[in-house]
Amino acid sequence: ASVSVQGYLTDLNEEQRRAVETLDGPVLVLAGAGTGKTRVLTTRIAHVIASGKARPFEILSVTFTNKAAREMKERVAGLIGPVAEGMQWLGTFHAIGTKILRRHAELVGLRSDFTILGVDDQLRLMKQVIEAERIDEKRWPARQLASIIDSWKNRGLTPAQVPPGEAGIFAQGKGAKLYEAYQERLKTLNAADFGDLLLECLRLWRENPDVLAQYQERFRYILVDEYQDTNVAQYLWLRLLAQTRKNICCVGDDDQSIYGWRGAEVDNILRFEHDFPGATVVRLERNYRSTGYILSAASHLIAQNQSRLGKTLRTEEEDGEKVTLTGAWDSEEEARLIGEEIEVLQNRKHALSEIAVLVRVSAQMREIEDRLVTLGVPYRVIGGPRFYERAEIRDALAYLRCTNSFYDDLAFERIVNVPKRGLGDATIQMLHNYARSTGVPLMEAARQMIETDELRPKPRQSLRDLLTSFSRWAKMAETMPQSEVAQTVLEESGYTEMWQKERTADAAGRLENLKEFVRSMEEFPDMQSFLEHVSLVMEANEGEGEDRVSLMTLHAAKGLEFDTVFLPGWEEGLFPNQRALDESGRAGLEEERRLAHVGLTRAKRRAKIYFASNRRIHGLWNSTVPSRFIDELPEGSVEVLDAPAHYSHQSRFDNAPAFSSSYGTPGWQRAQAYNNKKSDNHQSYRSQNSSTGRGAPIIEGKVIARSDNSGDASFA
Ligand code: ATP
Ligand code: MG
Repeated sequence: ASVSVQGYLTDLNEEQRRAVETLDGPVLVLAGAGTGKTRVLTTRIAHVIASGKARPFEILSVTFTNKAAREMKERVAGLIGPVAEGMQWLGTFHAIGTKILRRHAELVGLRSDFTILGVDDQLRLMKQVIEAERIDEKRWPARQLASIIDSWKNRGLTPAQVPPGEAGIFAQGKGAKLYEAYQERLKTLNAADFGDLLLECLRLWRENPDVLAQYQERFRYILVDEYQDTNVAQYLWLRLLAQTRKNICCVGDDDQSIYGWRGAEVDNILRFEHDFPGATVVRLERNYRSTGYILSAASHLIAQNQSRLGKTLRTEEEDGEKVTLTGAWDSEEEARLIGEEIEVLQNRKHALSEIAVLVRVSAQMREIEDRLVTLGVPYRVIGGPRFYERAEIRDALAYLRCTNSFYDDLAFERIVNVPKRGLGDATIQMLHNYARSTGVPLMEAARQMIETDELRPKPRQSLRDLLTSFSRWAKMAETMPQSEVAQTVLEESGYTEMWQKERTADAAGRLENLKEFVRSMEEFPDMQSFLEHVSLVMEANEGEGEDRVSLMTLHAAKGLEFDTVFLPGWEEGLFPNQRALDESGRAGLEEERRLAHVGLTRAKRRAKIYFASNRRIHGLWNSTVPSRFIDELPEGSVEVLDAPAHYSHQSRFDNAPAFSSSYGTPGWQRAQAYNNKKSDNHQSYRSQNSSTGRGAPIIEGKVIARSDNSGDASFA
């Protein structure tokens, strides 16, 4: 590492430099978006290595995602060369926890080759545990238990540590006991779930101080990115490791804390200063990422939050382009407008990799993906599968494929026992054997086998019911619109109910996706063309590395930056999301606002906000109201674009009764008034801005009344 120390340090401002050069002792960098927190961390690693304070494998560096870990390694390599490759302890909490546990597995009752359970296996196991306790799984679903146990694990609680008052929140006081039984099962299976990867480390270290001492000795420097989103277990984990040397540097931004719903605690920032007295606290105030208007919009918005530590942000960039605000008639038009804008940028030779579309919920992706596929714009979905690749969508597709054709073995196999119908592996194996020996497809094999007595009565009856249903649905498909058929199939098969019973945020997201799926079918003349469209979308975008648009949820966008950021769906109910408001009240609203702030601050040069006046929510058309976050933007930084006059939605009226009836209702009038008003005011905003500066809400006079929705029939 014969690197000139000067080289990388001169690329930093004074405060950043202080954060990098204060190598010894605890350091907390508390600073806003785009101020170079991540850059400080990478430079700090380079500095530790180059100045000989530690070797690469003596540095522990925690990132929020694997992608971030890879990028960090590349950046360090960029600063000091291939020596960075030796950073074995750079990764996510999970990755590093796994690595430590594998080395000492026997001390926590596992073997070093333990398996890490995915969500499905975890649920299966919980079901067994619940059944073993003779608890009615219908009343107390496994998924609910899973989320309770997860939250205990996030807080670093073992079964014995669950507070007595909380043990009762599941199955009348059995929660902690089930948790214990579940942990025992895991051990028998030589398995760990995600929560264990940290929790078992904590136990390992508590019970084996010598092992802990070894790691405290090993990790001379500890660095943590996105610190505001750590949960209690992660915090305890870090605190134990840092206890002796205390060379820990955490960087974070309380205004970007967006994982409260998953147990993250902003209080960890306050705890840090308490547990590491005398910590050097560095504040970075210059934002290097965004142009002036974008930054002022983001800062103004987040200033509405009450619970925040507060900070100033400034940029020396020019004002740049104003944040744009565009109203669309409906979500389809919104997707079309975004597509058009992307094409314009593409024609201007704008790199697609510098464009991102950030959505609040994954169900919003479907229309945008479809649009991009139609336009032939390559894209990738970051942090999750593409819409049609999601498990619940694949299941739904499998049902439709079986309805459409009795020859689709793969599809049949996928859903024959989803939801559970007592058709286990043994039965499926028998069907397979029969199908192979007689040369018929699986469904036909099933049809023939139920007439024999080879199957036991219960699976035989189940199969008979399923086949009868498929015949009925196929018949229905001859006359009914395909979206209605799909709706019926998903309901009558028990598939929708399977998710409804699991009262979790995850299940709610899947149900939204399913509704979006059914709705997407309305755009096609028949089932066949819909299925063809889907295979087209699935095939698109094969191959890696090309220049593509990034599509992701706002949650997945943390830490990233793009020249141009599209922000669709800024409507009340969607964003801020009603669920967050219902479940967490003001705290929920503030977390939503931080999410909006994260979205805006991803943009370097262009931020484009959209809202649609009509959107399907829970499968019904609603006239919507622009998000309150729009009101909270400073008028001087925003340009309201006229929505184009062409509304080519006429064809959709046939299929969308709720939609057509909302036409002409007060909700629509309000939205239209809004459209008119905003173009009228376009000029005055500008002139006002020059005299009064920023501050007033963008929609003066509140054309859009939010509080009077309840009496409006179109919102039913
Ligand atoms: P976030 O809160 O969104 O994670 P951050 O604080 O981690 O943001 P970085 O991603 O490290 O910010 O930096 C934002 C951008 O500013 C990057 O493109 C980075 O290269 C650039 N940058 C940071 N510091 C400087 C500097 N001193 N000189 C020039 N560019 C800088
Ligand atoms: Mg960062």
